[in-house]
Amino acid sequence: MRDERFDVVIVGGGHNGTTIAAYLAKCGLSTCILEARPECGGGQENTEVRPGFRIDPHATYLYGGAAPGFDQLELWKYGMRMVYYPSMAGIATLDGQAANLGSRWRPDIGEESIGRVSPGDLAGPGRIFDQLGEAATRELLRALFWTPPYPEGTEVDPVDMPWWQVFRKHLPNLWSEELVSMSYLDFLDNFVQWEPLKVLDAFAAWYCGAHPAWDGMLMQSIGGMLLLTYASGAPRGGMHTYAHAIIRCALAHGARILTNAPVGEIIVRDGRAVGVRLAEDAAFGEKTIWADKAVISGVDVQQTFLRLIGRSHLDPSFVQRVSDISLKGGSLFVMSVICRELPRYHGREDAFPEEIYPSCVVAPADSLEWFRDQTREAYSHRRPPKMAPEQLTMMICTHDPYDSTRCPDGYHVLSPIYLEMPPPEYDVTGPEGVNRQKSEITSGALALLERLAPNMTGANIVDVFVNTPQDSEFRNAGMVGGNWYGVRHSEDQWFANRPIPELGRYRTPIEGLYLCNQTSHPGGLCLMAVPYNLMHVLIEDGIAEPGGWWYPSPYYVPGGGPARVEAV
Ligand SMILES: Cc1cc2nc3c(=O)[nH]c(=O)nc-3n(C[C@H](O)[C@H](O)[C@H](O)COP(=O)(O)OP(=O)(O)OC[C@H]3O[C@@H](n4cnc5c(N)ncnc54)[C@H](O)[C@@H]3O)c2cc1C
Repeated sequence: MRDERFDVVIVGGGHNGTTIAAYLAKCGLSTCILEARPECGGGQENTEVRPGFRIDPHATYLYGGAAPGFDQLELWKYGMRMVYYPSMAGIATLDGQAANLGSRWRPDIGEESIGRVSPGDLAGPGRIFDQLGEAATRELLRALFWTPPYPEGTEVDPVDMPWWQVFRKHLPNLWSEELVSMSYLDFLDNFVQWEPLKVLDAFAAWYCGAHPAWDGMLMQSIGGMLLLTYASGAPRGGMHTYAHAIIRCALAHGARILTNAPVGEIIVRDGRAVGVRLAEDAAFGEKTIWADKAVISGVDVQQTFLRLIGRSHLDPSFVQRVSDISLKGGSLFVMSVICRELPRYHGREDAFPEEIYPSCVVAPADSLEWFRDQTREAYSHRRPPKMAPEQLTMMICTHDPYDSTRCPDGYHVLSPIYLEMPPPEYDVTGPEGVNRQKSEITSGALALLERLAPNMTGANIVDVFVNTPQDSEFRNAGMVGGNWYGVRHSEDQWFANRPIPELGRYRTPIEGLYLCNQTSHPGGLCLMAVPYNLMHVLIEDGIAEPGGWWYPSPYYVPGGGPARVEAV
């Protein structure tokens, strides 16, 4: 039998697995991706729910605009095409107030689109966006997300973390040491007056990853929103086309991709990862695939260690710490509505002129207290929200005014519409709690939509599709273990602490085995960040030798050996 042998074998062909494959193949390494499903891309799916109608059940916006990977992998050569939205955000309230914040994100759109927001209201986050400009925003985002965590034990004053260094440099007038321990909600209370704008910012921060209620995560909350607005758009045709560009790049540099190839075991010999064994039902004759230089796991940390490696190769205290990681599922209840007309929000149609329809609207944005209640229900009481349905804040997104590939003429796809729900694993009413209330939550949201936009009647709505957090896990096996949080963007799971300090530098206690999945820093959101950060470590370990196209993070701190495992 022929030996299948590569320099590097990658388990899982989601965003992170395919991106590191593209990087390593470009370095000249022979690289093989093994993907369990019939197609690569993981959470970057695009689904044709009816012929001609395309929705994104999971990843929808491009959060990776500031990634060095766009230059380094030259994705434009491989079909990556963006659609830019002139307006990213709008607000609508139950009493008929609405505002389009298009000009906040794109000053070129013009004063008129700013609707009813006063300059004082823009003093908070708006001031940050406006003062930074494109180059400094990119620098700040790279300091936050595209910087490998420091080696374990590196001593650094929190005010000197890379992102605060950049913030101080570009925004000296806004800088104060108090910011470092603040939550985003504290910040909004200090800097923003108009309630709907606070709701928009708080909701968007939650959606973008770092919850606005978490102390000490102000910069991560702001950073998530900056990521969303920096790219100000999505790949033409949906996030799956971005996945295709990365896959084409990997193939063009010689990578091999096997689909329908679930990995059943990572082979460890004398403490070193030397290859993988495919599961019996893999659609590939050769079941053992050897890795001469490294095995990279693109699947979550618990599957990697508890299922694919097995306890016999690991220290029991390490196994316990990995088992203890809370890989909760997501909070996103996702609705997609096919309709004949886009919503015309009550009383303020002039705030949303047709030519600059916002690609996302947060509504109802009446009260930050409603949003706090919702958060309390989901994360403290841990149950589907019991509050009045008209107080449930939603984010209503649509791409199709700017992307004609989304649906046929004469129709619109209002998708995704997001509501915040408890992650299934935490729900005190059981993991199926939200699923049991799926039709009730959906009808409540549709009734609210009609109240906000009276044209959203049954006659206008052609079809509705829903995936609850639990549906997302079932639908896409790769998502088990969470959405982009994977774990959380909270202080104890950020930078060198994520998911546990021993694994913070993507190295593992198994020599030659590295992690490249959303459970590593900085998490998901398809940032190309985990693979970029991992590249530094692979270069340091002598595995990858990139050409002149590579540039490292200016904040990279070399050093740190293999993961240290402390016995209890
Ligand atoms: C509702 C929702 C909305 C989101 N919105 C956005 C967004 O707007 N923008 C954004 O950028 N991101 C978004 N995300 C996050 C994004 O989808 C994830 O961050 C991204 O998919 C993570 O990529 P990954 O490669 O780490 O994991 P995954 O995408 O989960 O990929 C892992 C892959 O490994 C495969 N696999 C698993 N086990 C095995 C095995 N044993 N052998 C072989 N293969 C295996 C799986 O089939 C899968 O393809 C969203 C996620 C959710 C759930």
